Amino acid sequence: MSTKAEKKDLDWQNIGFTYRVTDKRYVSVYKDGKWDEGQLTSDPNVVLNECAGILQYCQEIFEGLKAYETEDGSIVTFRPDLNAERMGNSAVGLVMPPFPKERFLEAVDQVVRANAAWVPPYGSGASLYLRPYMFASGPVIGVKPSDEYQFRIFCTPVGPYFKGGAKPLTLCVSDYDRAAPHGTGHFKAGLNYAMSLQAYVKAHADGFDENMFLDPASRNFVEETGGANFLFVTKDNEVVTPKSDSILPSITRRSLVYVAEHYLGLKVTERPVRLAEIADFAECGLCGTAAVISPVGKVVDHGKEICFPSGMEKMGPVIQKLYDTLTGIQQGRVEAPAGWIRKISL
Ligand SMILES: *Cc1c(COP(=O)(O)O)cnc(C)c1O
Repeated sequence: MSTKAEKKDLDWQNIGFTYRVTDKRYVSVYKDGKWDEGQLTSDPNVVLNECAGILQYCQEIFEGLKAYETEDGSIVTFRPDLNAERMGNSAVGLVMPPFPKERFLEAVDQVVRANAAWVPPYGSGASLYLRPYMFASGPVIGVKPSDEYQFRIFCTPVGPYFKGGAKPLTLCVSDYDRAAPHGTGHFKAGLNYAMSLQAYVKAHADGFDENMFLDPASRNFVEETGGANFLFVTKDNEVVTPKSDSILPSITRRSLVYVAEHYLGLKVTERPVRLAEIADFAECGLCGTAAVISPVGKVVDHGKEICFPSGMEKMGPVIQKLYDTLTGIQQGRVEAPAGWIRKISL
């Protein structure tokens, strides 16, 4: 039987971005000062004590990455070592025991292998989204870090992000703050998302796709959206990305910076970006695992519209090239830098 025939019978183009329970997930438990062996399980439910640290004081971190089929029929993940490292940093930030990098990579492979039938076929634009996460499972009532944790990875297939072409987004400059200076903005923690929900719901109710968050201290500088970093392109084809200690270091953004410099020969600058200067940029995009780059057509700052010359119909030319090159690398059509693609033996 060919691998294709073994795939789940799903309408891959139309599965959207929703949770769909798959066959196996990974779990490892930290107790008495060490991580256990870890194993795959068929049970998608987590049973917790009512006083678990995650439920009371929100001690939780997560990651997001994708597995997909390449042109030659292999199944691969994209730079999972960076997810492992970033999760290690997030763990330290929330006073949790880091899960060892090699074990993280092995666990991702195990989950993909066990759910290979859920990896969408090459060319469908769909992928298998992997969600590693770690939370405090031990009881905590006085405020302190828990003594017990679970590290888990589940996966769910997700459809193509841009169905029928990438429509540029409209953002609003938010009156809410995402992350305080010297806070938790650079850790991938659920608590940063809990804080952003009110702003997200309001932006949607007001007809915007996303928020542009500013630095809370001065409100002069661009930070990021709730879940994606900014890339701007100047009228001279220079790529500019905001620098701030409270931005989450996006793996997609770091990869696009490399692609801009080494594949497209563009100059890239990471520096503080003033809200007041964005009207001078030619293109704007949001970077993250889900979409790679979503083009931004317009930013609305309290009624004042900032329209990028790339317009509201399609991606600007530089962002399109960045998108095509990085997705080409991911799907095996363009040669990848050493170490970027991890092939999973089935
Ligand atoms: C996950 C995340 C991103 C995107 O990071 P990628 O590694 O590119 O997926 C950007 N901003 C925030 C706040 C995030 O949580």
